[in-house]
Amino acid sequence: MTAADIETVLADIAAEMAARPDRGEVATYIPQLAKVDVDQFGIAVAMNDGQLIASGDADIPFSIQSVSKVFTLTLALGKIGDTLWKRVGREPSGNPFNSIVQLEHEHGIPRNPFINAGAVVVTDVVLAGHEPREAIGEILRFIQFLADDETIYIDREVAASEQATGYRNVALANYMRSFGNITHAPELSLGVYYHHCAIAMSCRQLALAGRFLAHGGRHPATGHSVVSAERARRICALMLTCGHYDGSGDFAFRVGIPGKSGVGGGILGVVPGEASVAVWSPGLNSSGNSQLGSIALEKLAKAMNWSIFAA
Ligand code: GLU
Repeated sequence: MTAADIETVLADIAAEMAARPDRGEVATYIPQLAKVDVDQFGIAVAMNDGQLIASGDADIPFSIQSVSKVFTLTLALGKIGDTLWKRVGREPSGNPFNSIVQLEHEHGIPRNPFINAGAVVVTDVVLAGHEPREAIGEILRFIQFLADDETIYIDREVAASEQATGYRNVALANYMRSFGNITHAPELSLGVYYHHCAIAMSCRQLALAGRFLAHGGRHPATGHSVVSAERARRICALMLTCGHYDGSGDFAFRVGIPGKSGVGGGILGVVPGEASVAVWSPGLNSSGNSQLGSIALEKLAKAMNWSIFAA
């Protein structure tokens, strides 16, 4: 497909999404997110050949929330390598993102790095040897580097809003601390976690930040190896199996590419060897994934014939 063809595909999808009445519900459990206008939709595709194509509200920053967990996982693996897997599993949870029941059965070892408990362990790893402020800075700078964009910022109001109301995450972190699987005071690891979840990015910036996964672990602008090709594949495998909470199977079935969603309504999708894709629409479906974002990715994958299962 030519760039003009892809532009047409994205513009058609954005126009169709703008007109749809079934937009889902914005997350309300983080008060700042409840204020976001549900009528927005953006999409951006960073092709491996360097083209960046976007449509809709692709330049409006949104709260990336759990999409940030892809980047903190990458950093934590860079720090301690595969020993991370002693503290976090690699299985889909089949439970909501903030479930505490499973954690009790599994003795404080969260199922995977993308549910909240697993992500807090990952953040605890990134925090080791740093002050919280330094760890937050390291995560933000890493994302800015991946996206080649120093304007990406943390929305402090969103972080404060979640910090003030995150009782469930406090429970998860304290519970894991009791098993020794959180090594800092829980409020410190959680403070860093809330701040990386509160990073604000546009679809364009997020698609750029995801390029290294579509490029076998390399940062395309500098050629710098962010992770090995094997690690990039494994991060993508986790995105496919665990990236959409207990809607991960349905997303793999409908879309067929690795993806990570967040309760801000963003989804980062990776088509290895082809492209990195970001969509955003703040209304969520019953599994907590962007309602229109999931539909749009399904349409895009079909139009582009993108699937990791394609023969
Ligand atoms: N910061 C959010 C929380 O901990 C992230 C949830 C999400 O995007 O899945 O509840």
